[in-house]
Amino acid sequence: MSPAVAAFRAQFPLLDSQVYGKPLVYLDNAATTQKPQVVIDALNHYYLTQNSNVHRGAHALADTATAAFEQARQSVADFIHASREEIIWTRGTTESLNIVAQCYALHNLQAGDEILISTLEHHANIVPWQQVCKATGAQLKVIPLLADGSVDLEAFQQLLSPRTRIFSIAHVSNSLGTVNPIEKMIKAARQVGAITVIDGAQGIPHFDVDVKALDCDFYAFSAHKVYGPTGMGVLYGKKALLEAMPPWQTGGEMIETVTFESSTWNQLPYKFEAGTPNIGGAIAFSAAIDWLAKQDRQALAEHEQALLAYATEKALAFDGLQLIGTAANKVGTLSFLLAGTHPNDVGVLLDQQGIAVRTGHHCTMPLMHSLGIPGTVRASFSPYNTFEEVDALFTALDKVLTFL
Ligand code: PMP
Repeated sequence: MSPAVAAFRAQFPLLDSQVYGKPLVYLDNAATTQKPQVVIDALNHYYLTQNSNVHRGAHALADTATAAFEQARQSVADFIHASREEIIWTRGTTESLNIVAQCYALHNLQAGDEILISTLEHHANIVPWQQVCKATGAQLKVIPLLADGSVDLEAFQQLLSPRTRIFSIAHVSNSLGTVNPIEKMIKAARQVGAITVIDGAQGIPHFDVDVKALDCDFYAFSAHKVYGPTGMGVLYGKKALLEAMPPWQTGGEMIETVTFESSTWNQLPYKFEAGTPNIGGAIAFSAAIDWLAKQDRQALAEHEQALLAYATEKALAFDGLQLIGTAANKVGTLSFLLAGTHPNDVGVLLDQQGIAVRTGHHCTMPLMHSLGIPGTVRASFSPYNTFEEVDALFTALDKVLTFL
């Protein structure tokens, strides 16, 4: 292990644990990442020293909590090059995408309009659009994939038309690891006048995201996939679009005035944040982001790519192993099948050896259907993983074959 990787890894206490008396080999990072000590400390620090409700500053503690909470918003805004009114706190990517579907699409689409997504989308970037289509009469169009699991860009160009009102796509596929060329796709979609939505759940952990340079209209992500806490996420939206949208939920915090007859809405971003927010979650998330920004992200990305190359080489040499998703541009995600076995059985037998992977459809049932498979075994790497852990995975897979 290089000193840089060792130093990075040392910050994650749970990685030192054991399961069934064996060292934990955590290869389920696309589902959620482990948390560094600095994030755990930030959550503790908030509840030990700052806990209070925000924006109701009748006392010193409320002022402290409000300042920390709003500083967290500024950190996230800086991290993705947005302004603070464009950062809406949500429960995660799922809620962020639902806000766009319910508060933008539902009010702006009609019969004859089209929403364009791709075959590799997570259910969170499919079902909300299906609901919009049902309610408005708009049609859901789907870009097919090439054999390597990359999006068919020719088909994409052909599917784009002035009827395309919304184009929504994953930055990175959670099931296959494919990195989509979103810069190019956003540009093309804008040319036909579509609103562009990026499901960044798997993009944020791997890339420096600059929403201004991307020029997307919305970018959705979750804290827990980028070393932050669960139950916390972000919707970035361009200010003019957010201003024109009706609120998401209604109640306290999101109003300016209320009478029994009617109400008016608070300014951005509060219009979209009804009720008491996840204050500790936001503060801990900003700790994650501030910490990540101080790491050598280039070196970490290179290490993850080296892990992927090493694992891919081993996978190709492994008898009966079929890789699912071999696009040229991938993050450290290895999805595969073992001949004559079901992914779930493989997952259980790996777990017994301390190896944590995910098996099944990974919330991408239409993708699995298009590939004609029930699901995959997915090992997803973080830069805190090591070559020794990749070796452990393949040694464990050898054993799995002797069991099945
Ligand atoms: N989109 C993608 C690509 C994902 O990987 C995930 C999480 N698996 C989601 C959306 C949904 O994220 P969350 O469950 O955090 O809302």
